[in-house]
Amino acid sequence: MNRNASESLHIVILGGGPAGSACGLALLKLATQIDRAVKVTILESKQFAGERHYNQCVGVLSTPLPDLMERELLVPFPTDLTQALITGYTLHGDREELPLEGDDEPSVALRRVKYDGYMLESAMKRGVEVLPVRATSLEFHEDGVIVYTDSAPVEGDVLVGAFGMDEGSAAFFSRQAKYKPPQALSSIVTKYHPGTEAMDAFGKHIHAFLPKHPRIEFGGITPKGDHLTINIAGRNVDAPLMSAFLKQPVVREALPNFEMARQYDADDLRYYKGRFPCSLARNYYGDRFVMIGDAAGLVRSFKGKGVTAAVQTGIRAAETILSAGFSRAAFDDHYRSANEDLISDMSYGQTMRSVVILMARAGMLDAVIRAARKEPRLRRALFGAVSGHESYRTVWGDSLAPASLTAILGAVLKRTS
Ligand SMILES: Cc1cc2nc3c(=O)[nH]c(=O)nc-3n(C[C@H](O)[C@H](O)[C@H](O)COP(=O)(O)OP(=O)(O)OC[C@H]3O[C@@H](n4cnc5c(N)ncnc54)[C@H](O)[C@@H]3O)c2cc1C
Repeated sequence: MNRNASESLHIVILGGGPAGSACGLALLKLATQIDRAVKVTILESKQFAGERHYNQCVGVLSTPLPDLMERELLVPFPTDLTQALITGYTLHGDREELPLEGDDEPSVALRRVKYDGYMLESAMKRGVEVLPVRATSLEFHEDGVIVYTDSAPVEGDVLVGAFGMDEGSAAFFSRQAKYKPPQALSSIVTKYHPGTEAMDAFGKHIHAFLPKHPRIEFGGITPKGDHLTINIAGRNVDAPLMSAFLKQPVVREALPNFEMARQYDADDLRYYKGRFPCSLARNYYGDRFVMIGDAAGLVRSFKGKGVTAAVQTGIRAAETILSAGFSRAAFDDHYRSANEDLISDMSYGQTMRSVVILMARAGMLDAVIRAARKEPRLRRALFGAVSGHESYRTVWGDSLAPASLTAILGAVLKRTS
């Protein structure tokens, strides 16, 4: 390698989504605090400016993200990008529905490419070098890392993997570092414009559906200013499944002026495909490398707050590199334990996911909704689960409380009697 030992520490970040940008911002902020010379380079193949690239993310961002950005990154939350405020959720069963509201600040719905553009721009302003290239391969050596790109290669001391669910990047990382990407759920996202009056009447709730359909785990309708974004998720969802979801009577009832879709915008009801992680990746750190955000699978395992987790893990990786170093042992001691809140909640989230799927398939959701109308603790559990505002451990605690179980049993027995 051509690097000079006296050069400043060079950290290369593969991917400039929220995880990569947050990591770059945190590295430069911390380096200034401890008076250490560092160079940070982000490789990002998408162009966020001008919205030339799409991001499948629904773009609902909530606490503690604004605080995290302002306190840990010294970057104000971009409230001017707000398309809509989300104050709660409406959970739909087959026949019953339940509005759920929490005490937190409303969530903000925005266009994800604009948020990503803002974060990357903030990182550039702080001094991060951003290269508009696609990484194609890499090599680890005793004295550094080489990342090959579709332009010139980039050499550094340590590599941060912030490439999200990109399968090409995961493949070349797996070849070099025994990394195994997280398991994934697939999703289809679409949108349409129902007209101004219908949007005003729709309100500020996300509508959540847990269909009986064996291949759809959940679906949602999110108000975003002048349009509704609709998404479904499951192990292997595809376009016909989205069309089937849109035909379900309970979904159709929640979609105002659906028959008018495509009248306002030719892009309406175009389908986009995406993936999100639902387990921890394997070997997501080692000597001279660490993964953050979706690439590490360091997210809530069932639903919600992917962007917050991406920013959080980016900051934690930066802290580890500058305080403990970038050997496997440093990441083991520091980075893994810093993420224990996410890791220790995963088994609770995965069990919750299995139980919810079973209940939805068995047609028990209506009974749970009826029970939750009577029992505040169960209502709190449902809000915590759909909003992502509580750990799954807490959600389990509320769901298994004697009052919640008695209410569910009462509702089930009433249905069968
Ligand atoms: C349908 C759907 C809806 C979602 N809704 C929400 C939501 O409402 N709220 C929320 O908080 N989260 C949501 N998420 C999750 C959220 O999108 C992710 O958790 C978050 O984007 C993870 O951030 P990241 O930086 O780890 O990865 P990403 O945002 O995926 O960023 C990775 C970046 O790396 C770049 N990259 C990859 N490979 C290369 C390469 N080889 N060379 C150069 N660049 C590369 C990509 O272009 C990309 O910009 C949703 C996800 C999906 C699929």
